[in-house]
Amino acid sequence: MASHPPDHLVRPLVRALDAYVPGEQPQRGRLIKLNTNENPYPPSLKVIAATRDAVDGRLRLYPDPSAARLRMRLAKHHGCDPANIIVGNGSDELLAVAVRAFAEPASSVSASRQSAATVQYLTPSYSLYPTLAESHGARRNEVPLEADFTLPLPAALRRGRKWDFGAALTFVTTPNAPSGRGYSQEELEYLCSAMEGVVVLDEAYVDFASGNALALALSQPHVLVARTFSKGYSLCFQRVGYVVGHRELIAALAKLRDSYSVNGLGQVAALATLDDLPYYRANVKRIIKTRTRLTGELGALGFEVLPSETNFLLVRPPAPEAATWFTELRARKILVRYFEGSSLSDRLRITVGTDEEVDTLLRAVRAILRSGPSRSR
Ligand SMILES: *Cc1c(COP(=O)(O)O)cnc(C)c1O
Repeated sequence: MASHPPDHLVRPLVRALDAYVPGEQPQRGRLIKLNTNENPYPPSLKVIAATRDAVDGRLRLYPDPSAARLRMRLAKHHGCDPANIIVGNGSDELLAVAVRAFAEPASSVSASRQSAATVQYLTPSYSLYPTLAESHGARRNEVPLEADFTLPLPAALRRGRKWDFGAALTFVTTPNAPSGRGYSQEELEYLCSAMEGVVVLDEAYVDFASGNALALALSQPHVLVARTFSKGYSLCFQRVGYVVGHRELIAALAKLRDSYSVNGLGQVAALATLDDLPYYRANVKRIIKTRTRLTGELGALGFEVLPSETNFLLVRPPAPEAATWFTELRARKILVRYFEGSSLSDRLRITVGTDEEVDTLLRAVRAILRSGPSRSR
């Protein structure tokens, strides 16, 4: 009989691990959810019908482990070979697999080979990367973006001496989250060309951007692009993402992925999505239009708003403090993202909702501004 408390059964690394903190998913109440960058528009009727039609006796069977049909369709869509594509249980799964495929645990390499165990990224960016690196026991190398959240040039990174051009794995969120900023293809190409290890360009929000870097993944063997059906294609619930790149790197990811990680209904829904792209393009256009309007209106109300190529805005509100704004908006049934205790604690990240949701948000913002500091103390 073990007499130690059960936490002694857990590896020290796992005990010390800070888990990723997802945005709140309220189970009840009629909240306006502008906190996790979900698409405000539903999947197309064809996608819902195709998914519903697949709910039958086949739920008994395992899904296609390699998502062959979906990879074929995606390959056609992107002008590459199915061997250049791996589908995962959301792109999050594939980001985790990439860490395991390309970075050594720090304890397994000598001090002179720490680059082989380095997972590197710019900050602030996607807050999952540190958790992935830590959980693998890899070394984290975090290098700040410029003060205005633009991408540092390789020359500046060299001067700063912190960036590791030989890092085993580098994540670049592009367009970036949570800043919303887009990076140009030229600067991404310039950065990727300077790198010796694998670079994953995480394009979760690319559908809302003016350009994309897919061509880099198909021309530079050490570059991978990660995409998802979650944000641009209203499919968060189904968990389908994919990575495009050199077949050798894709094959390495495929070895480590759980065979049946991509559920069957997700594959059905993603295939039907690719059959109905004009519907999604129209939604993206609407969201960009709403984004432009919200940027202008919040700016006029005294918010500092960063230019966005995504479906969210990073804003610095006028007084009261961001934490108070978060609470006041929540009291009015509007949920936004607040990054407590971080370098972004003076800001809020607001997902671009429908025009109606944005109107409700703006009404609440005006009411909070009118009620002044007395209410918020
Ligand atoms: C949402 C998001 C993802 C993950 O998307 P899933 O496919 O739903 O796992 C990856 N990277 C970034 C930056 C994201 O915001």
